[in-house]
Amino acid sequence: MSAFPHLLAPLELGFVTLRNRVLMGSMHTGLEETGDWGRVARFYAERAEGEAGLIVTGGMAPNARGAVVPGAAGLFSPADIAGHRRVTAAVHAAGGRIAMQILHAGRYALAPGCVAPSAVRAPISPHVPVALDEAGIEAELDDFATAAARAREAGYDGVEVMGSEGYLLSQFLVSRTNRRTDSWGGSFENRMRFAVEAVRRVRESVGSDFILIFRISLADLVPEGASWEETARLARAVEAAGATLLNTGIGWHESRVPTIATSVPRGAFAWLTARLAGEIRVPVIASNRINTPEAAEAILASGGAAMVSLARPWLADARFVAKARAGRARQIAPCIACNQACLDHTFSGRLTSCLVNPGACHEAELELRPVRRARRIAVAGAGPAGLAAALTLAERGHEVTLFEAADRIGGQLQLARRIPGKEEFDGLIDWYLEMLRWRRVRQRLGRVATAAELAGYEAVVVATGVTPRRPAIPVEPGAAVVSYAEVLSGQAPAGPRVAVVGAGGIGFDVAEFLVHDGPSPALDPALWAAEWGVGDPALHRGGLASEGARPVPPARAVTLMQRRSEKPGRGLGKTTGWIHRARLRAKGVRMLAGVSYERITPEGVWILRDGAPLLVPVDTVVLCAGQEPRAGLARELAALPAPPEVHVVGGAASAEGLDAKRAIDEGTRLGARI
Ligand code: NAP
Ligand code: SF4
Repeated sequence: MSAFPHLLAPLELGFVTLRNRVLMGSMHTGLEETGDWGRVARFYAERAEGEAGLIVTGGMAPNARGAVVPGAAGLFSPADIAGHRRVTAAVHAAGGRIAMQILHAGRYALAPGCVAPSAVRAPISPHVPVALDEAGIEAELDDFATAAARAREAGYDGVEVMGSEGYLLSQFLVSRTNRRTDSWGGSFENRMRFAVEAVRRVRESVGSDFILIFRISLADLVPEGASWEETARLARAVEAAGATLLNTGIGWHESRVPTIATSVPRGAFAWLTARLAGEIRVPVIASNRINTPEAAEAILASGGAAMVSLARPWLADARFVAKARAGRARQIAPCIACNQACLDHTFSGRLTSCLVNPGACHEAELELRPVRRARRIAVAGAGPAGLAAALTLAERGHEVTLFEAADRIGGQLQLARRIPGKEEFDGLIDWYLEMLRWRRVRQRLGRVATAAELAGYEAVVVATGVTPRRPAIPVEPGAAVVSYAEVLSGQAPAGPRVAVVGAGGIGFDVAEFLVHDGPSPALDPALWAAEWGVGDPALHRGGLASEGARPVPPARAVTLMQRRSEKPGRGLGKTTGWIHRARLRAKGVRMLAGVSYERITPEGVWILRDGAPLLVPVDTVVLCAGQEPRAGLARELAALPAPPEVHVVGGAASAEGLDAKRAIDEGTRLGARI
């Protein structure tokens, strides 16, 4: 019997049966905006082949006003239908089903002239929206219905009406954004009228045999958000108005509580879906931080949801369900919820991809073609670049031997996994281990490969990574100065007062590691909720606890420093940097920008700040001042009398701006080329 009986069970909706309980949740990939609908079709068709039960597209605006950014894709006119038809045809040919999400951004539309129930600017937008008048509201509702009818014409199996995350429908629902005094505002009956009417008109326009999902917010996580009683009332009303399924969403985009980042516990909000399931008859879908078939199966088996929605995991692995069904769950490339190549790209106007799977949204460009002749290839270094290269080469049919000086694979991933809130890296390392075994990559661990022994291979990939930079700061005898690698690997202890030199990604991670003690909040949902001030929406409007955030006191007093005068943490991930900054602020970390380092003594770090000398009294100084390439092996190979074909990749080639995303991308692309 399958390990995932609930996940793989079909879902009967009356007029249609879904083949399993896994929904591929809506993601804005940027593919539609390329105008290359063949590319969009291939992206979704591969996920249909990977047996997604039902795919939901990225949000499509019902009109130009509702587009998240000017030029974003939509279904505004009959001329748009042809492109969408290519997508639905490809998905159906692959045996899948697909629904189009209708998303009206309302005041989140990043353009002057955006519309909303009231002229209340969003804290994340520079534009004050125009309050819709009665005729404007009618026109918007008609556009929802028209977009749905066009979706049906384009061959979709259904639509999802986006009613959460703070977009237009949410904006009508709560007094935070709806200050109207007419029949569309005031009482909850009036505030929910727009959402219910949108569902009613969509149902009317598509007929009864068409999937209609309503995405409902279970906890807005903003002040003046919805109460549970209101959410339950809305759920019953949209069910009566014709919804087939209720998908769930957590948190508005302007919320100051993380909802999908890697530090959020897996399935942290599934308990709210279970509560919703008790309020209505139509099936409900659990979402947010569900990234393994095991986690999904547990939610479904508990009866708390009829389906699960996974979005980013379908970027990490297009064959999620197919592998689970075939008993190969361990081979599902895990989404580590880092946002680095997906949401961070989306929010900076770049095409989405995936840190773990650089081929996502680049399906044609990064096609792995089997090799005509297998070559004997050595890869030196089992950090992310080396692992990606070794695996890709082996997948294409080369005979690969992987050398690693440490006694285990992972390189810098082994350090990342020690950071509280980055436990998902464990799964990534486990996946590499499993895939190396599956692809029969020979592993030579615990020994440094010499140039002489590598010379016997037809090609060598040098992926020896980086070493921590030792900045030229004078250090007096007796001062405790250690590198981030020594602290994170447990080789060097840190005292009760610590200065961190360098406030980049690693400086922030090390500070988080140092202030932390006890269980990781990412593994303890109750602790996580208390630290972020998340409460039960049945008791606290919007799910924000009235007592506020209650962070655990810091384990150490940490000072984080940088030479640049800009705000520390500015270079962190676009969608996650604020979380790291908020965490460290909550833990009382002192952040000093614009410093210059004078010397390190047993008393602490002497710095110059605003031209004045200042002692930062600490017991330990941790250097997080960037890295240097470890390039010795590449030089030795080049100096051989008959050097083999050598490729240098990842940090060994350049340490500038190196992170796991770049390392894996480079390793994969190299592996696809040789
Ligand atoms: P980084 O982000 O470039 O930061 C290096 C830090 O060291 C900077 O704060 C820099 O600031 C300081 N520094 C550089 N040279 C120095 C010198 N000679 N003396 C003193 N200070 C010096 O690099 P990183 O922190 O090592 O991280 C490496 C990569 O991994 C980065 O791309 C980073 O974004 C990524 N990463 C990302 C995350 C994440 O959360 N997404 C987490 C970990 C790592 P000043 O020059 O202003 O002093
Ligand atoms: Fe998941 Fe990170 Fe890939 Fe995004 S980039 S899909 S968060 S692993």
